[in-house]
Amino acid sequence: MGGPRRHIVPLFIPHEGCPHACSFCDQRAISGEGQMTPAKAAEALRQAFSFPHPADTEIAFFGGSFTCLARGRMEAYLEAARPYLESGRAASVRCSTRPDGVAPDILPLLREYRVRTVELGAQSFSDRVLALNGRGHTAAQIENAFYLLRQNGFAVGLQIMTGLPGETAEDLALTVESVCRLHPDMLRIYPAAVLDGTPMARWMREGTFIPKGVEEQVSICAPILARMEREGIPVIRVGLHPSAELERKVVGGCCHPAFKELCLSRLWRERAASALAGFPAGTAAELSVPAQALSQALGQKRENIGYWGRLGYRVRVSASPDGGAYLAAEGRKIPLREEYKPDAPALP
Ligand code: SF4
Repeated sequence: MGGPRRHIVPLFIPHEGCPHACSFCDQRAISGEGQMTPAKAAEALRQAFSFPHPADTEIAFFGGSFTCLARGRMEAYLEAARPYLESGRAASVRCSTRPDGVAPDILPLLREYRVRTVELGAQSFSDRVLALNGRGHTAAQIENAFYLLRQNGFAVGLQIMTGLPGETAEDLALTVESVCRLHPDMLRIYPAAVLDGTPMARWMREGTFIPKGVEEQVSICAPILARMEREGIPVIRVGLHPSAELERKVVGGCCHPAFKELCLSRLWRERAASALAGFPAGTAAELSVPAQALSQALGQKRENIGYWGRLGYRVRVSASPDGGAYLAAEGRKIPLREEYKPDAPALP
């Protein structure tokens, strides 16, 4: 699942061209970059490509509302990528943008510069949540942009955010179901982090918004990961890309450098707990998992062992010789269902 890992050269274009003020957004803190210009992008690419890159390298314009830029500005960025596309040192371009920034007239330009993948910042499929958070687009616009891109041969990614102000369990369920229905080529899940200077930070200080912390967001995002695995939708990132600047700006909500690992640990914990429930308390069990999942199955500071212990079970975790996942106890061996395979490559 997720296909072969592609090498990415990322360029972040904070805020540029964006007239909106989404409740959660401080693009500079998220990207960890100052103001970008086409000249700076050209220089960054020159430096990046002074080292050898694999033939399938993709140049990515992340961080802003790429297709909302003034046409000349967007072309100037794409021109910076052109020499690497023409010489074959880069294979394609990717960008992230807003759903309402995708219109038919933009597609020829994207094709000309070999844009292969477009990631849409959906955040939510609830119109109420989108409006409350100042997104300035509707769920219908997400779907329109999605189908326009897909029907024109682009790979389409979606980005969603969990724990937005005003979001109910029903809103989140609607978002998850909508993602499954659209079946994007990739998904990013961002648990909401409150950054200083954003509307969300103000609402938090005023007491009208209580952000969800790491533990609560793990409980929300782990099942979404499992669901996407069942649906065959690659999740290429869970949680904001960590940086020192981001850490300085975060004043609340969920920010953890290994958030996806925490979610995967939670899935092992729950799946083993379901299998253990078929045995009486006091049972000693052996949980066998693929070698690369050993630390996830144990949990941070072996917390899963403690959790199963509190349920009344003594569990030993080991690497399975055949790469499978199962729980063995009292002469029985129970395969763990819905194993999440962490094979979707993380991208910046
Ligand atoms: S659309 Fe919203 S999230 Fe995107 S750059 Fe503008 S304010 Fe930030």
